[in-house]
Amino acid sequence: MSWSDVIQGARTSAIIGAELEPYPYISGFGLLMRLTRLGALTPPEISAFGFRNRSEVDVLTATQQLRASARLMLHAVGLQETRVGSHWTHERWSPARLGGVFDANPRPVRHCLECAAHGYHCTLFQLPSIELCPWHQAPLVDSCPNCPRPLWSRFDRESKLGRCECGFDPFSPTVASVDMWEFPTEAANAWATEYLEWAGAERVHRWIAADSSSPALGEGLAALLSPPALIQTPSLKQRPSRCTGFRKIIHFKKT
Ligand SMILES: [Zn+2]
Ligand SMILES: [Zn+2]
Repeated sequence: MSWSDVIQGARTSAIIGAELEPYPYISGFGLLMRLTRLGALTPPEISAFGFRNRSEVDVLTATQQLRASARLMLHAVGLQETRVGSHWTHERWSPARLGGVFDANPRPVRHCLECAAHGYHCTLFQLPSIELCPWHQAPLVDSCPNCPRPLWSRFDRESKLGRCECGFDPFSPTVASVDMWEFPTEAANAWATEYLEWAGAERVHRWIAADSSSPALGEGLAALLSPPALIQTPSLKQRPSRCTGFRKIIHFKKT
């Protein structure tokens, strides 16, 4: 299945920011960032997408867990018949069944700053096993490059999504609209489609059981969920085969 299969059934939307073709496997957070930043939606319009307590709602969690607000948003932009939303969960991108272990606590957004200029984000980026954006080779960052704050997925006081409190803003309205077709769509689609096939096949016989509050969770999952070198782009670092996180994480593999 490729991105064109995933978006099949999309109703034509006149909302600016709802363009899907250039952005393979965009996350719910990414889509809402594009919709709200490009469409310059007013707070009541954002509420209509189901995000009422804008300053408190962690958009990433709400969309990854396909809460009612996420389903309302899919409906509002005519995507309810597509498989776009099913690619917003961690589970979909993980090569082992996670049993919700990675969903227990909200996590900062991990951004490729080049993708973020488009308002693009993919749930793949949230997996600790992925360190670089596979199509830009840029490191994924979860804290502001300008100040030490984590990059949370909440609306700020001016109802803007994706901006740090210090003013740092990776989103560029020009890049996200005029330069929309300069996004490496083909490379992203090819890489992600191949990765998803691999992860789906692995998930059939791999499970993770771990304490979601363990500080070693990220490190352990990073090592266990790492894709094979064939899928990793050559510059992606090979991970060490052992790490301290293993002691707290049980990894089942059926042969
Ligand atoms: Zn990128
Ligand atoms: Zn900042």
